[in-house]
Amino acid sequence: MSWYEDKVVWITGASSGIGESLALELAQQGATLLLTARREERLSELAERCPHPDRVHSLPADLLDESQWAGLADRATAVAGRLDVLINNAGISQRASAQNTLATDVRRLMELNFFAPVGLTNAVLPNMIARGSGRIVIISSVSGYIGTPFRSTYAASKHAVRGYFDSLRAELHGSGVGVTIVCPGYVRTELSLNAVSKEGRSHGRTDEVIERGLDPRRCAKAIATAVARERSELHVGGKEIYAIYLKRFAPKLIERIVPGLAPK
Ligand code: NDP
Repeated sequence: MSWYEDKVVWITGASSGIGESLALELAQQGATLLLTARREERLSELAERCPHPDRVHSLPADLLDESQWAGLADRATAVAGRLDVLINNAGISQRASAQNTLATDVRRLMELNFFAPVGLTNAVLPNMIARGSGRIVIISSVSGYIGTPFRSTYAASKHAVRGYFDSLRAELHGSGVGVTIVCPGYVRTELSLNAVSKEGRSHGRTDEVIERGLDPRRCAKAIATAVARERSELHVGGKEIYAIYLKRFAPKLIERIVPGLAPK
């Protein structure tokens, strides 16, 4: 029997990319799913592609709207009377220099990538702690270890969640609730298409490295396994994930490589 057979899992950012693949993978493995994103029709269409559409519940929302977080968490918990796993996956990237990124976009990136996962997690934790079981998953990034050009706020948000959820794991020690931090490298999704560009525009194209990135279905399988095995951290992707170790053990070398990683 799959670990997910009797689990209720809430996935944010489920309308495309990693979140969509995670939904299909976990549905295949028997999970009951709650799916959040803004594009409601994509969530409905995704539910129909799952083996048991009746076990897939859409909770469409704009996570930039803080006033919705508590209500969403209540609805997510009410569907089956409990929530076993929250996967904080929704996120937006950046393709603009630090100087060309509008202050409003800096806040928007931090709001979605950092404050929303913190808010949703705080809203679901009391129930998990009371039951003495549950798992919080946060999708950080290789950018959670290394800042690359034109992604300053994105890197800040991914460093921030890594630090926050590392501390949370320590605080939850012995409670029965665990934390898994996921750091993907390049994954073939809509991430760069929707990334914040200069003057508040969207980047509007898929970067070469993303195009050549890991298949999101493979990324989803790796995440599913890491969560079921209650792993603390997962690094998943191509050879770019070695940059995490280079940063630690050969920081001067990575400092020379990183300026060449600006999106073309
Ligand atoms: P996608 O752009 O394909 O998916 C992003 C998801 O976030 C979509 O479902 C989108 O749905 C949702 N989202 C965006 N804005 C909001 C919002 N305001 N409210 C609710 N949902 C929102 O990219 P990925 O699948 O790649 O991204 C998933 C996560 O993986 C992100 O956190 C990203 O930073 C991380 N990651 C991705 C990597 C990659 O190379 N692809 C590498 C490292 C980390 P909708 O537009 O319908 O709201």
